[in-house]
Amino acid sequence: MQVPFLSLKDVTNKYRDEIHEAALRVIDSGWYLQGKENEKFETDYAHYIGTKYCIGCANGLDALIWIFRAYIELGIMKPGDEVIVPANTYIATILSITENGLIPVLVEPNINTYQIDDSLIESKITAKTKAIIIVHLYGRCAYTDKIGELCKKYNLKLIEDNAQAHGCMFNGKKTGSIGDAAGHSFYPGKNLGALGDAGAVTTNDVELAKAIHSLANYGSQKKYVFQYCGRNSRLDEIQAAILDVKLRHLDEDVALRKSVAKKYIEGIKNPKIVLPKISDWNQHVFHLFPILCEQRDELQKYLESNGIGTNIHYPIPPHKQECYKKWNSICLPMTEKIHAQELSLPMSPCLTDEQVNYIIDTINNY
Ligand SMILES: *Cc1c(COP(=O)(O)O)cnc(C)c1O
Repeated sequence: MQVPFLSLKDVTNKYRDEIHEAALRVIDSGWYLQGKENEKFETDYAHYIGTKYCIGCANGLDALIWIFRAYIELGIMKPGDEVIVPANTYIATILSITENGLIPVLVEPNINTYQIDDSLIESKITAKTKAIIIVHLYGRCAYTDKIGELCKKYNLKLIEDNAQAHGCMFNGKKTGSIGDAAGHSFYPGKNLGALGDAGAVTTNDVELAKAIHSLANYGSQKKYVFQYCGRNSRLDEIQAAILDVKLRHLDEDVALRKSVAKKYIEGIKNPKIVLPKISDWNQHVFHLFPILCEQRDELQKYLESNGIGTNIHYPIPPHKQECYKKWNSICLPMTEKIHAQELSLPMSPCLTDEQVNYIIDTINNY
């Protein structure tokens, strides 16, 4: 049997007719940017996440960049200020900080959750710290009450990188509505994916929302009047229309991901494999299903030779990347362990029981 890591074609085909109808509607309308499709998606997504505002933009990296840039424009942060960030994240989180001349302060993850270890944050806070950015990595909620208390105590902004966690909950609230602002990616492979690049910011802060709306549109609120030196980082009408279709089905897709995860957790019984430890099923939407294995590379080859596609998220941690040479000698053992042992199994709302059982049996025979 062949099981690809992810078939985007299957994911799209699930809602093929609705997506075709939405795309054709925009094509035939003759209006391709800054129109009613953006307005509708922004309204619907803000409602879904539970914030007052949603601002669509070009991609998830830009969404995060705009949040920090807007805080700088509003005088709340300035270049040289520090931002606390998990050391084990996708590079985009760190880039959004350094792109703005802010300084990332890397914090190790908790080895049971793979999320930022909240017991290590307080000792990293200095007079220059202005924000904590949490990343709901793999689709698991990274927020804890302790993080909220630290933000209050030290007057820090809490920013969420919600690129991997659309639909995730914490105590009845959606991730993306917990902090002061959140960046969302709609990269095609994400839980809520466009058919191309797209992103958004959600927030309840009206000043921040206005600044981001302007920054992502050349720094302009009024045509040909420029308040900031912005960029062109807009969301296409066609992507907004497609995202609005997919948003209507997000909860059912998340439920399917959870049922795949449940089967993996109940079925995989191999002492060489460490499975995700789930304490609250509301707090995980399984963008990925990460396992740890000391013989990770060998396991990946074995699965590949049995027709099963996997991926590594991520092979090299940010502090070991060439673009961040000055950190290459820093030692972050938890982060390095996860990057050395992590393997993501196939995960999508389109996997069949037959495929999932085949993956479980193949892993149990390893
Ligand atoms: C995908 C991703 C991003 C960036 O999103 P793009 O839309 O690809 O720019 C940011 N952070 C995390 C954690 C991601 O997984």
